[in-house]
Amino acid sequence: MAVVRANSRKNAAEVAAPEELNPYRIAQQQFDTAAEYVANFPAGLREYLRRTMRMTTVEFPVEMDDGTTKMFKAWRALHSKVRGPGKGGIRYHPDVSADEVRALASWMTWKCAVADIPFGGAKGGVVCDPKTMSYAERRRLTRRFIAELGDTIGPHTDIPAPDVNTDANTMAWIYDTYDMMHAGKNNLPVVTGKPIGIGGSLGRNEATARGCLFVTSRAIAQGAVPGLTSLDGATVAIQGFGNAGSIAAQLFRAAGARIVAVSDSTGGIYAEEGIDPEAAIAHKKKSGSVVGLEGTKNITNDELLHTPCDVLIPAAFENQIRADNVAGVQTKLIAEAANGPTTPAADKVLFGRGIPVLPDILTNSGGVTVSYFEWVQNIENEKWTEDEVNAQLKRKMEAATDAVLAMQIEIKDTHKVDADLRTAAFALAIKRVAGVAMARGIWP
Ligand code: NAD
Repeated sequence: MAVVRANSRKNAAEVAAPEELNPYRIAQQQFDTAAEYVANFPAGLREYLRRTMRMTTVEFPVEMDDGTTKMFKAWRALHSKVRGPGKGGIRYHPDVSADEVRALASWMTWKCAVADIPFGGAKGGVVCDPKTMSYAERRRLTRRFIAELGDTIGPHTDIPAPDVNTDANTMAWIYDTYDMMHAGKNNLPVVTGKPIGIGGSLGRNEATARGCLFVTSRAIAQGAVPGLTSLDGATVAIQGFGNAGSIAAQLFRAAGARIVAVSDSTGGIYAEEGIDPEAAIAHKKKSGSVVGLEGTKNITNDELLHTPCDVLIPAAFENQIRADNVAGVQTKLIAEAANGPTTPAADKVLFGRGIPVLPDILTNSGGVTVSYFEWVQNIENEKWTEDEVNAQLKRKMEAATDAVLAMQIEIKDTHKVDADLRTAAFALAIKRVAGVAMARGIWP
């Protein structure tokens, strides 16, 4: 997905050049920008932390339902294990690429550091179109992929989780495969996001969206969003209606917001008086799409991003808000539930317009935070109540939000620079990871 797109609007000097859309290069660019604000950060260590530690590539056969055999390509990237074992989801999508997986793995390192949980960063991806595959084919693909990864994953080395097009059921197959290969041990902590009956944590399914709500509410309460004092009565537009997006719609609505637009891969819908998320979920379940929900107007995904609203939540994919479409964005705040939805060029334009972007490595860290709670529960053979999980998540998300806002002020005080919240979040994460790396020393 290394696309270089020419900009259609040249309304700012910084967006005049063709835009880099390779997610790994974007991730490294974000790292480089923030690294400037991390004190006592030697060049060698900087190089170590910006690279991917280990990249596993596998190609394997899967027997399809019609008896034919099909080859699949997949990756698992371990970006860093400085602060703990690798942690990160597995994505099934036809457009998955090695660089996308590397980028997502590095964002996991910084995310775990921002959330202050003891994990490094990892990610996996399989090039496939799960929508065209049967349940049994997806199960065989998952089992074979995990078998091919062998001991590169493990409860204390690298722990997968759900991401785009994978869910609790997929995690059950991952656990089962690993358990068959390592009989006689407590293997539950090898993967998180499992079904509740197989060691999954209450609250994990909702955690990414709930974390997004906690971070957004906290940022607003701390006065970080010009012109917005509360989510009560605020208008919200959400791109992507899967795990992160559809649950965010429910939780933001429950917090008093009005969901005016939502979309999925087939298109979007708009209703000024508000969309009922439950009705949209039911409609999508029945028809395969949010489009056509009674009482709403159909819109395109581009129109969704340009919907006038108080909070815009990208919850689908990378590179959605770019140099060529950022000018039309009409929101007071962007809360990134997706990973990498805003490009560096778009970031600059938004910052210039005074629109804060709550960055992915903070805003969607609720998922990995409750994954960490699940891992702890599995190791301790414990089960927390949903209230306990949500209370701990709130505490973590608020502390992370406050730490990012404090870092923004620290950069201003120390470097006399107005940094955006992404740069502040990266600087905080790099400082934390670099601190541990220096304390541990370079092996041997
Ligand atoms: P999902 O597969 O459950 O949902 C993805 C949604 O995006 C689907 O509704 C799909 O139709 C929609 N979509 C796809 N292409 C689109 C397009 N061009 N325009 C609009 N919508 C489109 O995936 P998810 O788990 O909700 O993940 C969404 C994002 O959130 C990803 O960036 C993922 O990395 C990130 N994320 C997920 C978790 C998690 O716990 N699931 C945690 C952190 C971050």
